[in-house]
Amino acid sequence: MDQFAGLGLICSGTLLKRTKTCGKPHCRCARDPKARHGPYHEWSWREEGRLRHKIVPPEKVDLLREAIRNYRTVQELLGRWERESASIIFGEPERKSQPGKKMN
Ligand SMILES: [Zn+2]
Repeated sequence: MDQFAGLGLICSGTLLKRTKTCGKPHCRCARDPKARHGPYHEWSWREEGRLRHKIVPPEKVDLLREAIRNYRTVQELLGRWERESASIIFGEPERKSQPGKKMN
């Protein structure tokens, strides 16, 4: 992974805060929604087409949050780069549906 050193961390997916029931029938969480355990941070992401989940320990939440933000920045840049590339190859894209003007 040396080629990624210094580039920062990127993670796709989403980070959610949620509470859980533990499954023990006599625990308060079984009947009282306010007594549910947590909150926990849960990270969901796709890996090879499968949706995966992971409970995130509190001390890793900030790092993961930053990695998710970085991933979105990279995606955004990639999208812009892609559109720029197409307009360099094909020229400026035609503006669609300008008000008061009909295409065709
Ligand atoms: Zn419980």
